[in-house]
Amino acid sequence: MVMSYPEIAKAPGRVPPNLADYEALRRGWSWDAVRAELELPGGLVNQANECIDRHARRAPDRLAMIWEGSDGRVERLTFEELRRLTNRFANVLRELGIARGDRVFFFADRIPELYVGVFGALKAGAIAAPLFSAFGPEPVAERVRRADGVLMVTTPRLLAKIEAIRADLPSLQHVMVIDRERGATGAHLDYMRLMDGAADEAAIEPTGAEDWSLMHFTSGTTGLPKGAAHVHGAVVGHYATGKYVLDLHPDDVYWCTADPGWVTGTSYGMFAPWSNGVTQLIYEGGFGAGKWFELIERHRVSVWYTAPTAIRMLMKAGARIPQQHDLSSLRYTMSVGEPLNPEGVVWGQEAFGLPFHDNWWQTETGAIMIANYPSVPIRPGSMGKPLPGIEAAIIDDEFRAIDEPMREGQLALRPGWPSMFRTYWKDEERYASRFKGGWYLTGDRAKRDADGYYWFVGRDDDVINTAGHLVGPFEVESVLIEHPAVAEAGVIGKPDAVAMEIVKAFVSLKDGFAPTEELRRELVGHARQRLGPGVAPREIDFLPTLPKTRSGKIMRRLLKARELGLPEGDTSTLED
Ligand code: AMP
Repeated sequence: MVMSYPEIAKAPGRVPPNLADYEALRRGWSWDAVRAELELPGGLVNQANECIDRHARRAPDRLAMIWEGSDGRVERLTFEELRRLTNRFANVLRELGIARGDRVFFFADRIPELYVGVFGALKAGAIAAPLFSAFGPEPVAERVRRADGVLMVTTPRLLAKIEAIRADLPSLQHVMVIDRERGATGAHLDYMRLMDGAADEAAIEPTGAEDWSLMHFTSGTTGLPKGAAHVHGAVVGHYATGKYVLDLHPDDVYWCTADPGWVTGTSYGMFAPWSNGVTQLIYEGGFGAGKWFELIERHRVSVWYTAPTAIRMLMKAGARIPQQHDLSSLRYTMSVGEPLNPEGVVWGQEAFGLPFHDNWWQTETGAIMIANYPSVPIRPGSMGKPLPGIEAAIIDDEFRAIDEPMREGQLALRPGWPSMFRTYWKDEERYASRFKGGWYLTGDRAKRDADGYYWFVGRDDDVINTAGHLVGPFEVESVLIEHPAVAEAGVIGKPDAVAMEIVKAFVSLKDGFAPTEELRRELVGHARQRLGPGVAPREIDFLPTLPKTRSGKIMRRLLKARELGLPEGDTSTLED
């Protein structure tokens, strides 16, 4: 039995949920009513103003950020301090000649300067593009190239990866190094020195709701990653979901474990909490079961947003660990990124008295679209119901809504919500292909039950979801075939008990190369070095040839079916 939030909310010191009655809010929903709760001066909207400056004016000393470094160092920033620092960074950018709409990339660990940098860029009207710091040089180069990045902001630890690709990136005018230890930054721009010399006040670029703000890259079945571009008006969706799905209240300490290199780390690790004026914990380090519970205890985290892979790793570490900590501050917990198994939902309940509330969305949607809410009973294994204000459907192959309960189809959304992406950068055609029959096509398969709960089935494409991060097989295959021994490569997601899927590659070799263990290790090393550990294949198998269609396309579907011992399905297009 999973306890619902109203029961939890009755406990002493607990707060009633912002979303008290799902159906009533859905019936009466108005995005304009949400907008009225924001500032939107003169109809303009800049995410940095809504997330930082308006709070700094009302409550300058309110804590925006509690940061804990990997080494245990703790730093705190108020909204006013954040306002001034982001102003300084906006001034630094303007001084460099960065103009409205320029793409500014960030390649850094979760340090305070990353957050200052992104919001400073937004104030200057630039498009901020944060990248995952575990990427190898190849994924970084692809993304900067696709978006013609003009500035790369990074740290000494990651600088070598940028230096390795810089010559291939003609658009990149500057590299700026954030050296917290204030060492020498060589031939590059010095973030610390530039910030020291910058003024505390800056005018925020007068951006409107449809002006570009942020770019996140996402993978598809074919081709290299696409830059999903978002606009300043998205903050309306971040604020609304922060209020109704994250259930943020003024006194909360909120912790989102996602990295800003992925959309959860910006929408919910920057915009949703801060547009709601809430203090958030930012932890520089990675996963550690004991460490994570220690952080919740030390910083009195009340609302926690994490991911199924992390929950499964916590489960593996055992229920004894949470019991060794005082987790009484926690009142609400959520999960996103991959299907959350019912065991994960219930484990939270057993281990610390709170079920995990699953929710669903993707880079393109910009904000949570389907969710479990505090006041709606959870059906463990379901991702919940559409956000009030969002129309979702299960559609058939002709893009018609399927009304029959529990019939599988593609999950689709009626376009027009504020945080929806507005293009794939320089790829309008692909963007247009995501809209059919009046729907936005999510590319996910799902079902809806008779009571309106949605159940995830799987992806409609070959994209791999490993630990909640999407990996495009093409990107991995391209790097593998660069190796002199490799003739062909096919990459699939292999089911995994913890990470949901791992990246697995099949390769055939060129004449004169033998499939030895040594070569396998060399290929894994090559891929890790180029792609980074999160993207590179964990397993590589050798095959004499790969199954291909008559037109020469590698049949990943067949590789996967064979790997899993499943029926091979339609093989009529297979080459002889
Ligand atoms: P991304 O664009 O990288 O955020 O990945 C979005 C994709 O992750 C979705 O299209 C789904 O395939 C998957 N996903 C996200 N949240 C969930 C969830 N709660 N349950 C199942 N799959 C999810």
